[in-house]
Amino acid sequence: MQRSDGRALDQIRAINFELNIAPHASGSVLVAMGNTRVICGVTIEEIVPRWMKDQGVTGGWLTAEYSMLPYSTTTRKQRDIAKGRLDGRSSEIQRLIGRSLRSVIDLEKLGPRTMWIDCDVLQADGGTRTAAITGASLAVTVAWKKLLEEKKIASSPMRKLIAAVSAGIVDGNAMVDLNYEEDKAAAVDLNLVATEDGEFVEIQGSGEEATFTQGQLGEMLALGHKGIRDLIAAQRNTIALLTVTAPT
Ligand code: UDP
Repeated sequence: MQRSDGRALDQIRAINFELNIAPHASGSVLVAMGNTRVICGVTIEEIVPRWMKDQGVTGGWLTAEYSMLPYSTTTRKQRDIAKGRLDGRSSEIQRLIGRSLRSVIDLEKLGPRTMWIDCDVLQADGGTRTAAITGASLAVTVAWKKLLEEKKIASSPMRKLIAAVSAGIVDGNAMVDLNYEEDKAAAVDLNLVATEDGEFVEIQGSGEEATFTQGQLGEMLALGHKGIRDLIAAQRNTIALLTVTAPT
């Protein structure tokens, strides 16, 4: 079966990472997966949230924010600030990004600091949350390098790289990394977050006015796993070129 953009069912979109696009950030990456483009910026503050002090929790904290820029969609998307509240979807996505990164980061090693990961969608064409996680994995790696160079930390707190990709069932076919057109037509939508050694961090799967079988779930997970391997390989290539210290 040929997909609308000519890809094979197990083929992710063209991936590109542009590093250090925001010089004031400790680490920044513009990640492109086909026409979906997300800016991931990491800022480190030398403070921890009040609740950590109050509860005597040691180490650092990591938190994420996600937003779609007004011109990232085909019709203008109003900024949350103009509406006076964060939309439910953004809130769900930013919590997913935060959980995903915390799963591979040793917060003790971070020390009494807060790491902010800001993900802003420049162009949306499906899979913005998964692109944000993949980009954040690289942006955080760059930020660690900076902290190591500044001798603020002794070793990298990042245990493993992570990546995320979507999978779904469209017209009865399981496929990976859906673009918006495919996402709209999908009967099942699945987002997979996994580490470079193939361990799951999170699986979000839902039937959209449809149901799915265990066999289809298995197919989507297999496609997702392969996609994640491809995305990790792309991260590793970028890291090697820039001689950024990566987790071993
Ligand atoms: N989308 C949009 N406006 C919105 C929300 C979503 O145009 O307010 C489009 C966008 O292309 C996005 C896609 O719908 O990538 C799929 O949205 P979903 O909520 O499934 O999240 P995503 O796949 O981006 O993680």
